[in-house]
Amino acid sequence: MTAETDRNVDDNEIAKFSRIADKWWDKSGEFKPLHDINPLRLGYIDRLGKLSGKQVLDVGCGGGILAESMARHGAACVTGIDMAEKSLQVAQAHAATHNITNIEYRCLPVEELAEQVPHSFDVVTCMEMLEHVPDPAAIVRACAKLVKADGMVFFSTINRNPKSYLHLIVGAEHILKFVPKGTHDWQKFITPAELARMCRSAGLDIIDSKGMSYNLLSRQYLLTDSTDTNYMITCRPA
Ligand code: SAH
Repeated sequence: MTAETDRNVDDNEIAKFSRIADKWWDKSGEFKPLHDINPLRLGYIDRLGKLSGKQVLDVGCGGGILAESMARHGAACVTGIDMAEKSLQVAQAHAATHNITNIEYRCLPVEELAEQVPHSFDVVTCMEMLEHVPDPAAIVRACAKLVKADGMVFFSTINRNPKSYLHLIVGAEHILKFVPKGTHDWQKFITPAELARMCRSAGLDIIDSKGMSYNLLSRQYLLTDSTDTNYMITCRPA
């Protein structure tokens, strides 16, 4: 086993997601925020990555909220990978029930997939996952290895600052109870500068970034230019 395929998985995180895996498609349950932001991020990814006819990889796909929407949105084929087997079973069953055939789910580490099939995907997405792994830079490197030379990689995660502590931990977990307590560990949030460093040292250039913020009055998520809480970045091989 090489350094890149040494286990980069936090078993507590996988157990946490596995415990609520049957809730992935409950739009008012624990994963409501992911359902709420999905049209925004799907539109963004499609605008920059032009999904139609593309080979797409979704890393840390969970129950398939984003993966399935990209498959429905014209991608030739979407591969979803995750380390929580239970989530993948839910994703698979949901796709089968909805007759979605251009999607496949696999339980394997992204570092291993990168060794098996480097430079195979036009679009690689890795959303809301980097803040749940021990070594996010290794995930970024694997994504950079998996994308084709003319492809694009999309990451999303959460900035680490007092505002994100207030909004994502105090607000979303403790007061509004949008997600279960303990969903996030603030210390594992990643600043845009840290993520930019990881991307650059993986050979990726950042070509765009956008924030996603929740408006309490309209009760909607909006795309913004501020990366101070939830944010997405788009990269391509340098
Ligand atoms: N990307 C999905 C799900 C985000 S939740 C979405 O945005 O809708 C975070 C996901 O990352 C969970 O499904 C969890 O099982 C997965 N995950 C955590 N550590 C992982 C790892 N090392 N490799 C792959 N997936 C992982």
